Amino acid sequence: MRSIITDDEERCYLCGSTVGLETHHCLHGTAGRKLADRWGLTVKLCSRCHRDGTVGVHGRNSKADRQLKRLAQTKFEEKYSHEKWMAVIGRNYLGGKENGNEERSSKKH
Ligand SMILES: [Zn+2]
Ligand SMILES: [Zn+2]
Repeated sequence: MRSIITDDEERCYLCGSTVGLETHHCLHGTAGRKLADRWGLTVKLCSRCHRDGTVGVHGRNSKADRQLKRLAQTKFEEKYSHEKWMAVIGRNYLGGKENGNEERSSKKH
């Protein structure tokens, strides 16, 4: 499925580069990737923003990683609903503080 997050798949979502673009799944892990593919929760990132050890979202840039997860949830909820997000994804990335209590809060359920 095409990305529901952006129509512009010609450039890196984070820095705007048009070189070396890769598909980033906003949700990780085996199950997360499948869900991201199925629901269009993907963005294009250049190889640096994607996999660089320091600035890449799969490197130490957990801030950008969280930003993209929240973005995915926001776009999904605009298109469908919060209830559907929780039914399909089962984890709320939008609640809580900037630094993310999502791991803890999700365990309450
Ligand atoms: Zn980039
Ligand atoms: Zn990725």
